[in-house]
Amino acid sequence: MSTADGTKRRSLDTERPHIAVIGAGIGGLTLAGALTATGTPYVIHEQTRELAEVGAGVQLSPNAVRPLLRLGLGAALEEHAVRIEAMEVRGWNGRPIARTPLGSECERMFSAPYLTIHRAHLHEALLSLIDRDRLGLGRRLSALEERPGDAGGVRLTFDDGTVSAADVVVGADGIHSTVREVLRRDEAVFSGLGIYRGLVPADALPPAARERLVRLWLGPGGHFVCYPVASGELVSYAATVPLDGPPPPESWSREGDPDALRAAFGDWTGLVSDIVTAVETTHQWALHDRAPLRSWSTERITLAGDAAHPMLPFMAQGANQAIEDAMDLAACLTGAPLSSIPRQLARYESLRMPRTAEIQRGSRGNAGVLHLPDGPAQRRRDAQMAVHAALRDRAPLYAHETGRSVVQPAASGAA
Ligand SMILES: Cc1cc2nc3c(=O)[nH]c(=O)nc-3n(C[C@H](O)[C@H](O)[C@H](O)COP(=O)(O)OP(=O)(O)OC[C@H]3O[C@@H](n4cnc5c(N)ncnc54)[C@H](O)[C@@H]3O)c2cc1C
Repeated sequence: MSTADGTKRRSLDTERPHIAVIGAGIGGLTLAGALTATGTPYVIHEQTRELAEVGAGVQLSPNAVRPLLRLGLGAALEEHAVRIEAMEVRGWNGRPIARTPLGSECERMFSAPYLTIHRAHLHEALLSLIDRDRLGLGRRLSALEERPGDAGGVRLTFDDGTVSAADVVVGADGIHSTVREVLRRDEAVFSGLGIYRGLVPADALPPAARERLVRLWLGPGGHFVCYPVASGELVSYAATVPLDGPPPPESWSREGDPDALRAAFGDWTGLVSDIVTAVETTHQWALHDRAPLRSWSTERITLAGDAAHPMLPFMAQGANQAIEDAMDLAACLTGAPLSSIPRQLARYESLRMPRTAEIQRGSRGNAGVLHLPDGPAQRRRDAQMAVHAALRDRAPLYAHETGRSVVQPAASGAA
């Protein structure tokens, strides 16, 4: 139907919205993959010209593995990920603190394994789910303008001066989100901590490094985490330390000083000192998060992943929560006519916000808990961790279901 000025009138109750996703990270790609699975049209704009995922490993807990399996990533996870048998926590001097069994018990209890994977492998697997014609590279969003109301929409402006329009915009553009800036003026909060991250070939380490364990060592002011990735050929490590003075520029690809890493952790127990001795190059950056928001959507614009709820990595949930967001948002947008978009975005927000805010706060809280100096408070913490090491204590995190309606379980089964 045409209007008096000759433009085509849109039927708000039947027409499907044009969805624009900003950012092809873990959250944006999962959303695009889930929308592809339901035949929902979208475009995805990514600022980088070449997709090359930086960073080391990432832990995937059952709450995110289940949806990834439903999207059909069983074979890719089988090929690259490592099924973790247990999570072990020790003191910096090797004293045992807690052990949570994962392995088959996790699969029985939560219908999915606990996995570790190289970020590049996860990224590659997610890319295989999307329609590549819908991905625009070298497209850095610089501004957004929303026209509210039934006939409204969003105007997107990119760095290269090009402009496009969408009915719904999803900011999946990370901790320094341009989309979030349009909605909320808040600053990233520096935690006072920095992190060294990298990979070491398993061959350069004692055989114990290949064991399918996530290992944490806790010490005064810092902690050290490692686990195998790339089918066990590489060991991913993350070493958290206090950072004095102003935080260095934040970039996941910033080089760190291996000697400073050795100085901080060289006298820690067994595998920690083996890893820091073997490190040739490392990355280091300052850790930031932001306070939980009370709202992250308008009628036409919403956020997902780190853009919505950047968190410190101390519950290993940032990527997992980005995947959960993407599945719930895809379920809300699938089949939704234009007229229902404000309602669907509000529904998505109410599904996600309480859970992600709690995890943001929990991750912040862990910064203090994990880094206690040796003494009475540390001994009380160790005793508490031992008491709460049972796998069933993880049920609030691991049993959570998202986006069930997006796709049926893939026939390929377990990872
Ligand atoms: C040290 C460390 C360890 C971690 N370990 C874990 C872990 O074990 N488990 C876990 O679940 N999580 C972990 N995380 C967190 C996890 O990496 C992040 O939460 C996750 O990557 C967030 O995904 P995202 O898609 O929201 O954002 P990102 O992965 O940051 O992706 C954002 C994308 O948007 C693009 N972009 C940005 N701005 C624009 C723009 N203006 N226009 C167009 N594109 C843009 C970027 O180039 C990027 O591709 C860790 C984080 C850190 C720092």
